[in-house]
Amino acid sequence: MNPQTPWLNPATTPLIIAGPCSAETEEQVLETARLLRKHIPEASYFRAGVWKPRTRPGQFEGAGAEALPWLQRVRQEFGFKLAVEIANAEHASLALEHGIDLLWLGARTTVNPFSVQEVADALAGHEGPVLVKNPINPDLGLWMGALERLERAGIRQLGAIHRGFSTTGKTPYRNEPQWHLPIELKRQMPNLPLLCDPSHIAGSRARIPELCQRALDLQMDGLMIETHPTPEAAWSDAAQQLRPEDLQEILARLVVRREKSEEISYEVQMEEYRKRIDQIDQELIHLLAERMDISRMIGHLKKRQQVTILQLKRWDEMIRSRLELAQDLGLEADFGQTLFQLIHEQSINRQNQIMNRTESPGNQ
Ligand code: PEP
Ligand code: MN
Repeated sequence: MNPQTPWLNPATTPLIIAGPCSAETEEQVLETARLLRKHIPEASYFRAGVWKPRTRPGQFEGAGAEALPWLQRVRQEFGFKLAVEIANAEHASLALEHGIDLLWLGARTTVNPFSVQEVADALAGHEGPVLVKNPINPDLGLWMGALERLERAGIRQLGAIHRGFSTTGKTPYRNEPQWHLPIELKRQMPNLPLLCDPSHIAGSRARIPELCQRALDLQMDGLMIETHPTPEAAWSDAAQQLRPEDLQEILARLVVRREKSEEISYEVQMEEYRKRIDQIDQELIHLLAERMDISRMIGHLKKRQQVTILQLKRWDEMIRSRLELAQDLGLEADFGQTLFQLIHEQSINRQNQIMNRTESPGNQ
């Protein structure tokens, strides 16, 4: 994928897209734009949800096409370019008719290849930027697939937005960031601009600063952040929207780091650290392979003795002792827990293959 990027800022300054979750009234839209112009003049795009995909019916579902002229006033009076979410062919043609500069597909649209294809067909050959938020569920293929559908429809100015993933585990976020997924997207599509939407990851104002900094440290190209003149009174996503003046403070505190330092000593030192990390990773893989071999042998032994795979008491002692050691060595409890659950699960799978299929001891 080789997208064109005239809509992006130069590598040194992140692109800022700011504006309310929803366009509620003409006054609210214009007041947000006025405050943004005053506090965050560096914002390039004014965002607003016009059609709102809501989880439950009966909530505010957006002002609809009526809001598009309000946005046009934002451009005329405050000079921002405009960004709107579209979810079907009708939204696409209305947005284009009203000259919306940047379009994006929301998380609830990216999950559905039929909807993505409908939007791609409606936008065929469109020259402006189209960004794709990650799907609600942590599925990189679905995210990439949506981008590919747009690319096949002749859209050249493509980009992605990371807005976190809905998961069942307990998490302090509204949508778990799962940073490895946007990183993997960057690895597989290195030329694709990638923005972060900390508002929908956080779900609450307090976590937004740390998420913005993390996104920049992962070399993301910009931020899409929800702002509202009176966030507590917002008609959607009230807990996560920021007043423009608060967003200004957050942005002022962000450190934009370089990809590399020019200093030789930095290069040498970094090379050294990377070699050690490579070495440790290789050892980890060897040790894990050795551990799985032992699990297979245990599987054969349990099979001969007709003993169950899961031995709860042993697992309980195991996880306890591993977590204790991990914490003593400064590793986070959650990390230790997830890691050992994964290893244990793999080990159980190995034993299951042996006990319930016909794998011979000779395969060990
Ligand atoms: C939004 O940007 O307001 C929105 C609905 O986001 P998402 O698609 O990420 O849930
Ligand atoms: Mn929102």
